[in-house]
Amino acid sequence: MDHVDSAVRLAVLDGFEEGGLGWLWATDGEGRLSYITQTILDHAQSYIGRPFPSVVETDNSAAAGQPSRSLAFQFSAHSRISDVIVRFAVRRDDQRWWSLSGQPRYTPEGTFTGYVGFARDVTQEYARQREDERAAEFDSLTGLFNRHRMTRRLDAILAAYRASGRCCSLLMLDLDKFKHVNDTMGHPAGDELLRQVAERLRKVVGDRGDIGRLGGDEFQVILPDIEDRGRLGELASKLIQMISQPYAIEGKRAVIGTSVGVAVAPHDGEDREALVASADLALYAAKNGGRGQFRFFSAELKDEAQERTILTEDLREALGRGELELHYQPVVRIADNYVVGFEALMRWNHPERGPIAPSVFIPIAEESNLIVPLGEWALRQACADAAQWPDNVRLSVNVSAVQFAVSGFVNAVASAVATSGIDPERLELELTETVFMRDSEAVDEVFASLKGLGVRLALDDFGTGYSSLSYLRSAPFDKLKIDRSFVETCAAKDNNSAKIISAIIGLAEALGMETTVEGVEAFDQLDVVKKRGAKLVQGHLFARAMPLAEVEAKLESGDLKLEPNGPKRHRPERRSVFRRVTVIHEDHRYEAVMRDLSRTGARIDGLLGVPVGTSLVVDLGGGQLVVSMVVRSEEAVIGVEFEQPLTSDGAGGLCTRHRVPPSTLQAAGAAAEPKGKPRFIQVAVPGSRERT
Ligand code: C2E
Ligand code: CA
Ligand code: CA
Repeated sequence: MDHVDSAVRLAVLDGFEEGGLGWLWATDGEGRLSYITQTILDHAQSYIGRPFPSVVETDNSAAAGQPSRSLAFQFSAHSRISDVIVRFAVRRDDQRWWSLSGQPRYTPEGTFTGYVGFARDVTQEYARQREDERAAEFDSLTGLFNRHRMTRRLDAILAAYRASGRCCSLLMLDLDKFKHVNDTMGHPAGDELLRQVAERLRKVVGDRGDIGRLGGDEFQVILPDIEDRGRLGELASKLIQMISQPYAIEGKRAVIGTSVGVAVAPHDGEDREALVASADLALYAAKNGGRGQFRFFSAELKDEAQERTILTEDLREALGRGELELHYQPVVRIADNYVVGFEALMRWNHPERGPIAPSVFIPIAEESNLIVPLGEWALRQACADAAQWPDNVRLSVNVSAVQFAVSGFVNAVASAVATSGIDPERLELELTETVFMRDSEAVDEVFASLKGLGVRLALDDFGTGYSSLSYLRSAPFDKLKIDRSFVETCAAKDNNSAKIISAIIGLAEALGMETTVEGVEAFDQLDVVKKRGAKLVQGHLFARAMPLAEVEAKLESGDLKLEPNGPKRHRPERRSVFRRVTVIHEDHRYEAVMRDLSRTGARIDGLLGVPVGTSLVVDLGGGQLVVSMVVRSEEAVIGVEFEQPLTSDGAGGLCTRHRVPPSTLQAAGAAAEPKGKPRFIQVAVPGSRERT
């Protein structure tokens, strides 16, 4: 080395510096830049004298491969610097990445005199490495976080939050009918759909939380510091609504839905395993509840899941054992109150449990595919029954989307009609929008075949669900059935339901379709729907669904008229509940029974001598403490108003928005030893109609 000509050395260094693939640098003993290759960036000279760690920066977004200690620390410790990836902090617009190395220099006496070092261009390698890192953290299809990353994130958040008592919510989403899109439109279409779903999720969630795809059509959202179930319910509804909008994929239309399960830490689980299990169970319950629903986790869900398993087994045997029966609800022409037809509605008489509602057992039958034989039975039975009726009395039969999708469906309809000998014109099949959640060609084909048979088609529950008007353009419906939910509120003041009913009737007439308005229960509702142009109605005001024998008696009498009979005014449904609750007043706890729960208040039975104006806390269990004020009091019955209204639990019930965390409850329970005498007398409430 000694005898190498210094001129040659300089020439080599010049060549290196001019090549642009790297640069040289040096600092003084204070760590200030004393030399930098001039050609490497504009105005390089102006950075001389600055602390070197302020001239370059490491990549904060990438942890992998980077030293755990900051560059500044390494400098101040006079450590050797080897292959630290940096860019110029002074020139953020410079896209190049450099691998920086440097050697500390000392005098023979051991005094630090500064660094000399070099940096080489690693822009391309580093871009690739970052891409790989992304692949490990991100789902390559959607760009969302992957399972691995979500797991780590949730672990980290829960661990950090535990000590400070902060909350974190977890949403699990599972797409409904995604598999169908994948099967019928192909995997590339399925991939495209998932990308669009991810986009919509991002839009709704924004920067409130982290979104991941766990695989397949499963998504997860982590929402730190949110435990308000009012907000969570709104967010879940928004997600469901957004994801249920139709998608344009490869020039075709696809419709899917989603179900959402929600669990909140620490209430529903303190660590990741427990929280995920709770959210999963909530998701399962949401899926079982029907299309497009959300559910909060609650302890009862565990029992519900077991219950369903048992009912599924029982339902398998039900048909063979003759436990199923069809009841018929009259369809009435408003003009003259004449019965023009009947809708067949299935009834299950369970040998031990008694009657089980279709809203309970039909979803179970759909999930287990039992709906196919059950639905076929209903078709045959109903046609056979109607064959005995006068020719001008129509028959409606409900058809599940699951049943509609099996290949033998059209044949089953044809066979039921042929065997019974009824005119196919008399049979009306009631379908819901969920039949469209398949590829449109297959659906179109079934529609065409059904029309070929000469049967009529009705779109049931119109106005709920996805309500895309394009269904009406493409499918040959003869009738729209306007959902009961519109009728329920149509007689109330300042309500849009009446206007919506008008609009649907107008729309149907323009398209040459009939309408039936469902769920008319009171005279004021009948008045409204009549004024709004309704011609056909069903509802308790005229008749409930009745056994075949009653239908026959009615028909034999020859009197097909029905007189409306019911309340003048519709009373909004009050939830009649019977629920044991604890009422807390001062430091005493009383056992009582809650009834007539609404969002804003409840009736509570079992406390004597509570004056109006008393402030109480009602404990609904599971940390749901409701601050309440007594507004009515009569003997052992009080009416309370809640300080903060309850929110929907996603399952038709109500819950508090906020909960007291389990640890606080435990602490309070341990501390509470009542001091004074109880102010009120607790009396027993008869436990009739008790539900668990
Ligand atoms: P849906 O097809 O919308 O049937 C109308 C439901 O509203 C029936 O409930 C009926 O009893 C009820 N209803 C009629 N008028 C009134 C009223 O004025 N007020 C109130 N509150 N309710 C009224 P149901 O019989 O419990 O059936 C529930 C659902 O179960 C049906 O809704 C239908 O989706 C399904 N379902 C029933 N039978 C069958 C069947 O044979 N096959 C299939 N696939 N589904 C069925
Ligand atoms: Ca129906
Ligand atoms: Ca309906």
